[in-house]
Amino acid sequence: MPSPTGHSLLSPSGAHRWLVCTMAPRFEEQFPPSGDTKYTAEGTLAHSVCELYARQAFDGKMTKRQFNAALKKLQADESYTPEMLDTAQAYVNYLTEKANGYTDKPNVFFEQRVDLSDWIPEGFGSCDCIMIGDDTLHITDYKHGVGVPVDAKGNPQMRLYALGALKMFRAIYGDVIQKVSMGICQPRLYDTPKEDCMTVQELLDWGEMVKVKARMAFDGTGEFCPGEHCKFCRGKYQCPARAEHNTALEDFVGCVTPDKAGGVTDAQARMVLGLPRMLTNDEIGDLLRRGENLVSWYNDLKDYAQKALLNGEAIAGWKLVEGKSNRVIDDVDKLIEAMQKAGYDRAVLYKTEPLTLTAYEKLVGKAKFVEQFGDMISKPRGKPTLADEDDPRDPWSSAADDFKGVTANA
Ligand code: SF4
Repeated sequence: MPSPTGHSLLSPSGAHRWLVCTMAPRFEEQFPPSGDTKYTAEGTLAHSVCELYARQAFDGKMTKRQFNAALKKLQADESYTPEMLDTAQAYVNYLTEKANGYTDKPNVFFEQRVDLSDWIPEGFGSCDCIMIGDDTLHITDYKHGVGVPVDAKGNPQMRLYALGALKMFRAIYGDVIQKVSMGICQPRLYDTPKEDCMTVQELLDWGEMVKVKARMAFDGTGEFCPGEHCKFCRGKYQCPARAEHNTALEDFVGCVTPDKAGGVTDAQARMVLGLPRMLTNDEIGDLLRRGENLVSWYNDLKDYAQKALLNGEAIAGWKLVEGKSNRVIDDVDKLIEAMQKAGYDRAVLYKTEPLTLTAYEKLVGKAKFVEQFGDMISKPRGKPTLADEDDPRDPWSSAADDFKGVTANA
């Protein structure tokens, strides 16, 4: 969730970047923050709906009337979509499940600002939900976006929130708290939230490493370290280290073994038959990985150059041209009227189409729609999509794999 107020140079959400590239925060300061997008506004509103639902479920202080009035206010926001009620319910369901896992009712806190200055200079963060009871501290973060699947495993943002929460509650709970668990609820992408767990000692040890890196990042020392994390850096367009990294084409040299020297059986067989060697699947996997950041960097350069040219700046050797466009009807009603006058029947000039599923849900209300018509809706499997092996989504399996081991009874 975004920080409620103020700005910290080393934000928990940027920790995946500044822990690796300690030069990034001071370098980024030179570039204006990318303004709020419609997605930021949507995310902020969705968080508010989640918070309202969660407070109603856990605090028990709000009357039905107060809840409805607060919800109505949120629904009046132009970023509101009915889906936010479903995602808020998924968030509450997850929190309820976690709370039920405690022997005694845990203490629950929402939107809790935590002090991270023991680890990060001037650092702070804001936890969506902190749950504490038995010997366990549980942190939950809600994510509304669908563009980037977020995993909880080894997630530095979650760990920092956990450190802040631990600091806050250790004075009360002392050494009773031994375990820390962290959950990321991203209901528009996953039915089951992603989780990670560690001991308090493991978390504190990790915090010691953070202290060193955070100091360097705050002081702007260390080294530029380009990598996948660059895509969220404000300096990504003009960072020389990133450019140098991606133009070091010698990185690609030597990743393909010379012709007829492949060490795999299949390559040997081809050699025996006198056939030229082909790239192996291992080599293709390696090339894909090496080229990944290159493609993303090149696309960022194109974006930057286009914006600069639109602003009237010059980019040596490049210009803007008119892109492809499709013909449009200037005035549909006028055209139809003219065609009818010319003898075309109205029936052949129109077509009736069903609305989209989302539009039907909007019409009926999602919960009611599912209740009344849910058995007529199915979700086909998504197309197989190439992803990094560390991607948190489950691996795609073919229908044949799904039925492996299932035998028909004679
Ligand atoms: S673009 Fe990458 S290498 Fe450059 S400052 Fe940002 S994170 Fe560091």
